[in-house]
Amino acid sequence: IQTLRRLFHQYHKTFAPLNFSDYEAIGRCEKQVPEYFNFASDVLDKWSQIEKERKGPSNPALWWINGKGDEIKWSFGELGFLSQKVANVLSGPCSLQRGDRVLVILPRIPEWWLLNVACMRTGVIIIPGTTQLTAQDICYRLLASKAKCIITTDALAPAVDSVASKCQFLKTKLIVSESSRAEWLNFSDLLKAAPAVHNCVKTKSQDPMVIYFTSGTTGSPKMVEHSYGSFGLGFFLCGRYWMDLTPSDIMWNISDPAWVKGAAGSIFGPWSQGTCVFVHAMPQFDPRGIFNTLCRYPVTTLCSAPTVYRMLVQHDLSRYAFKTLRHCLTGGEPLNPEVMAQWKRQTGLTIYEGYGQTEIGVICVNMKGMKIKPGSLGKAAPPYNVQIIDGNGSVLPPGEEGDIAIKVDAKRPFTFFTRYVGDPVKTASTIRGNFYVTGDRGSMDEDGYIWFMGRSDDVIISSGYRIGPFEVESALTEHPAVAEAAVVSSPDPIRGEVVKAFVVLSPSFKSQDPNKLACELQEHVKKVTAPYKYPRKIEFVQQLPKTISGKIRRNELRNKEWRQI
Ligand code: ATP
Ligand code: MG
Repeated sequence: IQTLRRLFHQYHKTFAPLNFSDYEAIGRCEKQVPEYFNFASDVLDKWSQIEKERKGPSNPALWWINGKGDEIKWSFGELGFLSQKVANVLSGPCSLQRGDRVLVILPRIPEWWLLNVACMRTGVIIIPGTTQLTAQDICYRLLASKAKCIITTDALAPAVDSVASKCQFLKTKLIVSESSRAEWLNFSDLLKAAPAVHNCVKTKSQDPMVIYFTSGTTGSPKMVEHSYGSFGLGFFLCGRYWMDLTPSDIMWNISDPAWVKGAAGSIFGPWSQGTCVFVHAMPQFDPRGIFNTLCRYPVTTLCSAPTVYRMLVQHDLSRYAFKTLRHCLTGGEPLNPEVMAQWKRQTGLTIYEGYGQTEIGVICVNMKGMKIKPGSLGKAAPPYNVQIIDGNGSVLPPGEEGDIAIKVDAKRPFTFFTRYVGDPVKTASTIRGNFYVTGDRGSMDEDGYIWFMGRSDDVIISSGYRIGPFEVESALTEHPAVAEAAVVSSPDPIRGEVVKAFVVLSPSFKSQDPNKLACELQEHVKKVTAPYKYPRKIEFVQQLPKTISGKIRRNELRNKEWRQI
């Protein structure tokens, strides 16, 4: 018996894939968050151990292509090896110490993933930024974050140099480039020379790990700080249940990796499950490129912003046979039910929507196996208790519109952000009574499904009616002429404000008489939703103003409307 017991323990130590049941219990808040946790050493290095002991082939940890014939596949072992070297670059020549902040602005290149892991290994706080940032955006971020180091490529180095003298905290510039640049350290040279072994720092679960700038949909982006626990452990359930991932899956998240959806879909969701992260570095959005990739590569799981699905369904998908795609995800913005229906008609696949925030991660989800109610956000994602509350912090009954909020007991859920950096007043203002207030409006039905109405500022009040832009936009999208729509309030002498729709037409409708089409769309909306919501004003536009992450900036359209009076 003793021998058997010893063998059993040995087997478990070697083969039990991580402490899955522990992580699951922690994710549901049924078990305490460990005092120390680091995603690199506690999860990634364990997957690399499991990979070593597994017989037979494994999927890579990272599979990167650029569509020009270049391809990189790294196993978890290689990811571990290379990220340790990068960690030595950060703490050696870059002189970065634990707690220092580094702004990383890179396109979808493999170094992005190495740097993320290397920052975890060294305790350096990473601040991701997208490559669409301008010199001014970079300057704002460097000053606001007090980052000591910036890492970017040739494309943005001149922009950085043009503002560097104003950024007094910036000490080191590291370029990922084949050629060298004056005053910049070169990543590849340093990587070659870096020692191979690095001892991962022991981080507490509450230690800061990453600072995200929010999308800036409603104003200047805010700095949201997350910890090793909130991000490293917080996406475990989401990876397992919403994304439905296993080590046999290959996940392609099309969204820019530099915002929170990137963290969820390109790092923590898949890697917490030992899933391969697939990356296609496309220089620009190219629907045909996406379809061809899905036909050629064994991608099982696709994640993308609603705006991408809206563009994809404009194409005839019947010509493509997706090789292995089985699960589709979206989030970051509301997904119009019509787009979901068209995708299902064309591919046979349902899109599982998630609703979340940089501050909180995933708040509501549609999980596999759950009944999907198109247009709803799904149900509260564990560990959250999501409720609809009024201005006093009281829970509203089903069907009533109010603020979408998360119950916070004496202790905040560990998955929450730590704070808005440098803004304690704003951090405190998110709490009302026993609730964290998301800033979004919605309602809950009898079955616990949450229905999104709009951001608090986007709700239109016309002749005493409260109108959510999303419902009107979805109604418009059901008309074949509409590719995309944004609905905002517009001043009106009698009603105070009325509903105005900005509409991007589908290509085949672009030459039609706009007045006739506007009337037709108004009649259409009156038919498919309560007539008082129909847009009294319609303007046809070539495109809608969007954030870098592809979200419609309704506040920009609204401000323009109101400035005109
Ligand atoms: P900022 O806070 O700087 O104005 P942002 O709120 O867009 O920008 P994010 O944290 O990226 O920054 O986005 C979170 C917000 O996105 C949510 O509060 C909500 O308004 C919207 N959102 C996210 N997912 C969904 C979804 N599935 N349906 C509707 N809205 C969503
Ligand atoms: Mg926000």
